Amino acid sequence: MTVNLAFDREHIWHPYTSMINPLPVYPVSRAEGCELILENGQRLIDGTSSWWAAAHGYNHPVLNAAVTEQLQKMAHVMFGGITHKPAVNLCQQLVEITPAALTKVFLADSGSVAVEVAIKMALQYWLASDTPQKTKLISLRKGYHGDTFAAMAVCDPVDGMHDMFSGVLNQHFFLPPPASAFAAEFNPADMAPLAALLEQEHQQIAALILEPIVQGYGGMRFYHPEYLRQARALCNQYQVLLIADEIATGFGRTGKLFACEHAGITPDIMCLGKALSGGYITLAATLCTDEVARGISHSAAGGLMHGPTFMANPLACAVANASVGLIRQHHWPAQVAAIEQQLQHELAPCKALPAVQNVRVLGAIGVLEMRKKVDVARLQQQFVELGVWIRPFNNLIYIMPPFTISPAQLTTLTRAMVTVAKASS
Ligand code: PMP
Repeated sequence: MTVNLAFDREHIWHPYTSMINPLPVYPVSRAEGCELILENGQRLIDGTSSWWAAAHGYNHPVLNAAVTEQLQKMAHVMFGGITHKPAVNLCQQLVEITPAALTKVFLADSGSVAVEVAIKMALQYWLASDTPQKTKLISLRKGYHGDTFAAMAVCDPVDGMHDMFSGVLNQHFFLPPPASAFAAEFNPADMAPLAALLEQEHQQIAALILEPIVQGYGGMRFYHPEYLRQARALCNQYQVLLIADEIATGFGRTGKLFACEHAGITPDIMCLGKALSGGYITLAATLCTDEVARGISHSAAGGLMHGPTFMANPLACAVANASVGLIRQHHWPAQVAAIEQQLQHELAPCKALPAVQNVRVLGAIGVLEMRKKVDVARLQQQFVELGVWIRPFNNLIYIMPPFTISPAQLTTLTRAMVTVAKASS
C-alpha cells in the first residue's frame, strides 16, 4: 500500500504550508546512511540532515540499538519525582562537553521550547535578584529562534516568518545583524548599536539572545566571532545575560563543537536541539550557569516554572546519549573539515553565475544566496530529478548534509546545486 497522498493533501498540515494550495510532498518509505528512499524506489542523497538533525545519517546501527534497548525497559515515565539513567547520563555528557561554566540542564521537548525555557530562566533570574524591571530582550535582525510565541517575539520582526503576529507579540529590542562576515576583517562599528542600546536601556534588559556565528533561517549569514566576544563583554559590563541559541549550530556543524567556541566565549544560557538526538526523536536542552540556576532557585516560586509531560523522555535521552557518544568519538572534526573544503571547491563556480548573489561555506554548511526568491516547488522537483534532497527557501539554496556523507555523494549534491543555479541564471 502506498501513502494516501490525496488524504495528506486534504487533511494534513506540513511545515509552513497552505491547506488550500499546499506545496507538493514526496513520500519517503525508508532512509539509510545519507539517502532517503522514495516510495517509488528512487534514492535521493540527503543535503538537509532533516533540518540539521541527522548528523550521523539515517538508520544508524548504534542509534537504532540505543532506542531498541531502551524500548525494552521503558518508553516513557514522568520526570516529576522520578529520575532515570538515560536522562542522568545525557545531562552528565552535556555538562562535560559544553563550556565549563554551564552546569545545570533542563531537558525540553523541542528547540522552540528550549528557547522559551531560556527566556523564562532569564526573566526568573532577574525577578529573584530584585530587578523585576529587567523584562526586555535584545535580539538581532535576521535572527530565528522558533515558532512558539516567546520565541517568535525574538525572531526578525520584519523578514522573519512571523511578522503578521507583531501586534500580539511581546515587544523587544532588535539590532542590525553584525555586518562583518565570518572570515572578513572585523569592523568595530558593528558593536555600536549594541553598545548604545545597552548604555541607554540596560536597566530594563534581561538578556541578549542570538544564534552564535550562523544566523540560520533568517538568511544563512555567517558573522564574525569578534562580535560575539565583544557582545559577551558588553553583557558583563551592563549586567545582561547572554543566551546562545546553538540549536542549529551545536554538535560540530560549524567546524567547532559549539559555535561559541569560535569566539572562546561562554554564554549564561545555551539552547541545544536538532542534532542532540541524532535526528531520531524530538529533544532539546537548555543549559545555564550555577549563578543563573541559584538565582532562579531563590525566586519566590522556589523553582523554574516549567515541566512538560514528556520531559526527559527516556527513548529520546537514550538515543541522544548514543548520538553524543558518536560525537565524542571525534570523527566529526575531520569529516566536517573535509566537507568544508569540498564545498568551497565545488560551489566556487557558482560565484560567476548571474543569478547568484553570494556563495558561502562554513563547516558542513554550503549556501548559494540567489538574487531572487526561488520557486520552491519547481526547484524541489528539479533536485529530485537530479537524485538529491535539497530544500530551498526564500532566496537560499543551501545544504547541511550528514557528517558521514561520502565525497562522491557530496559531489552529487553540489553538482545538482550548480546545475539548478545555472538553469536559474
Ligand atoms: N532556534 C534555531 C536557531 C533553529 O534553527 C530552530 C529550528 N529551526 C529553532 C530554534 C526551533 O527548533 P524547533 O523547530 O525544534 O522548535
